[in-house]
Amino acid sequence: MGAGCGNAEFSAEVLPEPTAALGLVLVNEPPSQPLLASEPTVLPPPVIKITQPTATPPPSPTTRPIYTQTPIPTATPAPIITPTNTITTYPVATETAVPTVAAVVRATFTPPAEGAPSPNEHYWLYRPVPQNSSVWTDKVYPYGSTRDGTLQVHHGVEFAVPQGTDILAAQAGTVIVAGNDLEEIYGARTDFYGGVVIIQHNTLYRGQPVYTLYAHLSEVLVSVGWQVDTQQVIARSGSTGVALGPHLHFEVRVGANSYDHTRNPLLWLSPFKGRGSVAGLVALPDGSRPAELSVTAHRLDGAAAYHGTTTYADGRINGDDAWQENFALDDVYAGYYQIKVRYNDKTYKAETWVYPQQTSFVTIQLDG
Ligand SMILES: [Zn+2]
Repeated sequence: MGAGCGNAEFSAEVLPEPTAALGLVLVNEPPSQPLLASEPTVLPPPVIKITQPTATPPPSPTTRPIYTQTPIPTATPAPIITPTNTITTYPVATETAVPTVAAVVRATFTPPAEGAPSPNEHYWLYRPVPQNSSVWTDKVYPYGSTRDGTLQVHHGVEFAVPQGTDILAAQAGTVIVAGNDLEEIYGARTDFYGGVVIIQHNTLYRGQPVYTLYAHLSEVLVSVGWQVDTQQVIARSGSTGVALGPHLHFEVRVGANSYDHTRNPLLWLSPFKGRGSVAGLVALPDGSRPAELSVTAHRLDGAAAYHGTTTYADGRINGDDAWQENFALDDVYAGYYQIKVRYNDKTYKAETWVYPQQTSFVTIQLDG
């Protein structure tokens, strides 16, 4: 069993088919002649032209995902995020934001008519893989997990895409790493991520730079210094470095381009229509955070997929700047959910509404 990322064992059968996936716009067409290089060190010249800022195609209102980040770094902590399409984005989803309260839900609790967007949200990022691929984040080896002690603590999330899948920039930015990690360490050690691209994005978050990292690539199609547009094809997926099979390893880093500055990508990737996220803190009375407890979410007011994850494993795994959570669930359908944690043979429960395009925060206090 390798020390790094997971493999292709998780696959489509555990990931629902995308039904309401965000529309994608490939800014540049893939090269007409597929590149066949297998070694990141001997890549042919990149075939995708640098995107000139003045030539950035305007967003297509019918296919763009939910929010467009306006790339204006400012001193204010909140990003400037402008809804680009109020028809297909947030307002549409409000229909499911106020679920019919089923008998099982406590009748004394009246949800707000519509959750208000929180200033803590920072769903800046688009899926880094094409819409017709495995767009859902892998649930078997989530951020902060060791996959039942079999792998290193995970500093990112996986997308279970096959070899050679187009990898897309999650947001516009500047390429600061493009190649491999045979000499420079970007992960736990050299030759850990194999073919790797790191983008520094154009907008600061709370005054800090934001980076995304794409690893195990079979081909790198950009070079250091390039300005890339949102969802531009930057690479192709593979299994280079420490990987048991083809997939994309995707990281978000805040404050510094460092393995110790990762955040949970689930709280940065824009949820699909009608869905939100749950972030939570599971802690003991002394404030300590037990590692890798099972966390599940069951919808109480209607049918929905089961969601499960584990609490983060150790201190090198950071909570989000806004949430300071130690677990997160993504792409949760709007509804009313019971969150359960098992600790010392006792089950702890909390209940929360989930709203589209929002993060619901849950605190579960364990007995010592
Ligand atoms: Zn990984």
